[in-house]
Amino acid sequence: MTTPALSLIKSDLPEKWQEILADLITDPKELLDFLELDEADNPFSCKAITQFPLIVPRPFAARIEKGNWNDPLLLQVWPDLAEEASDPLRSTDPLQELNFNNEPGLLHKYRGRVLLTAAPHCAIHCRYCFRRHFDYDANTPGRARWTEALDYIAQDRTIEEVILSGGDPLAAADGYLQWLLNELDSIFHLRTVRIHTRLPIVIPQRVTTELRAILKNLRCQVVIVVHSNHRNELDNRVFKALSDLADDGHVLLNQSVLLKGVNDNAASLIALNKALFSQRVLPYYLHLPDAVTGTGHFDVSDAKGRQLIDELRNQLPGYLVPTLVREESGKQSKTRIA
Ligand code: SF4
Repeated sequence: MTTPALSLIKSDLPEKWQEILADLITDPKELLDFLELDEADNPFSCKAITQFPLIVPRPFAARIEKGNWNDPLLLQVWPDLAEEASDPLRSTDPLQELNFNNEPGLLHKYRGRVLLTAAPHCAIHCRYCFRRHFDYDANTPGRARWTEALDYIAQDRTIEEVILSGGDPLAAADGYLQWLLNELDSIFHLRTVRIHTRLPIVIPQRVTTELRAILKNLRCQVVIVVHSNHRNELDNRVFKALSDLADDGHVLLNQSVLLKGVNDNAASLIALNKALFSQRVLPYYLHLPDAVTGTGHFDVSDAKGRQLIDELRNQLPGYLVPTLVREESGKQSKTRIA
């Protein structure tokens, strides 16, 4: 069955990222129709999508193999019934971020750097996300209420780096982003603005001439940390977006999450890191999944993670091997596992 919306995925995706963002797939049945899959084989969890809705951008959906329930991209977005499993060892805030929520929109966990939740939404909902229960409404102030967070940064000269996170900061409109970046850029002791984003991977059309101009005009060094977990997420359009950002002189890093069934094998991680490096993106962290309620089916053990890193070290130059880490609440930095 082909609906007008589905035909967009096949051949005629708009080039404007705003149009793509306004037309996300949010209905599991629509996604299954497009992927030629039968819901009876793997029913979705209504409870899970009530708490954390299904969101899949069409350019990402177009990279999922049809008829394959085990596709590594599909597994990242499918609201599996396993999300309903209860586990007393899991939490909705495993990193206890609310304890570090110094001002609305600002988290100060680590010395020398703060994180701003710059946008309340993402272009995709990754089912393993550690912020799937985060209260974005209370933590994305908007221009008027950013004053407190900006004052906090301006008054603490030990802060050298601001990390824009979210949600996804690049899901915000250019005007708002430019305003916030310029405000930060005017704080003299800041040296680096780091942007954590999955947009260049899932909607590469987001890397526009306008966005590139905004980033290029900043005094601060710009570090862009993309988030890609599997080689199949990278097509030629993604390559162009990454290459454009690298041409502009920004530092490009990738962080992945080690996910059962998605990328928990050496061949997959090697292919991903080689492909990213071809576009001047270096691997940064490989995260063990956090103990978030509803995500236990993605868990990979520490031992398996260490074994994979050993295999990567045997087959790749050191600069293509990410650091395997876990975030632990209360720690001053990520815990290095391998
Ligand atoms: S893009 Fe990042 S913040 Fe958004 S759902 Fe995925 S992992 Fe979470």
